[in-house]
Amino acid sequence: MRRYSKRSLGNLKGIHPDLRRVIDRALQEGPLDFIVIEGLRTMQRQRELVASGASQTMNSRHLTGHAVDLLPIGKDGAAFDWPLYDKLGPAVKAAAEAEGVKIEWGGDWQKFRDGPHFQLAWDEYPTEEWVTGDDAPKPRKKTQSTTLQAAAGAATAGAGGVATVLGSLDPVAQYILLGAASLAGLFLLWIVRERLRKWGQGDR
Ligand SMILES: [Zn+2]
Repeated sequence: MRRYSKRSLGNLKGIHPDLRRVIDRALQEGPLDFIVIEGLRTMQRQRELVASGASQTMNSRHLTGHAVDLLPIGKDGAAFDWPLYDKLGPAVKAAAEAEGVKIEWGGDWQKFRDGPHFQLAWDEYPTEEWVTGDDAPKPRKKTQSTTLQAAAGAATAGAGGVATVLGSLDPVAQYILLGAASLAGLFLLWIVRERLRKWGQGDR
């Protein structure tokens, strides 16, 4: 049975419990031992990494405890080495599959291949559903954020109300009210679109 080093255990602090389960299983069942070289990251460190070119985004899953970096240990010791990542990547993905946890491996990225990097998938694990330090994630919802649901609800309620009020007004008042309602609707659509865009920005 493989054991984490002190360093690895330190770097696993503050990591999402589902990701932790995956890493635990990969350590025991995978073909390679590894060191957890990084987990939760401070904003300050992220800024430094972006400045140095080591990371390309300030929207990193490391900042929220949704990502880890693993350094594989081969026959000749620990190495940042593609042949080793090519073994470790599929092993961690198999562990995730067995745990029923959806993850993404940086080694699968086209733009900026990141062999050591593993993160929980954005769509199944949105940032707002778990805050580092919590033991258990909040109950998972398949639906979109409450803000979006509220916006959609308000739009529907608003439309119903408008129809009722319209019936009791004279034609000119109806046009004015309709115009105002469409403007409000357009604004609402824009808000929803902006939120969806931010929500969909899957990046490391
Ligand atoms: Zn990483």
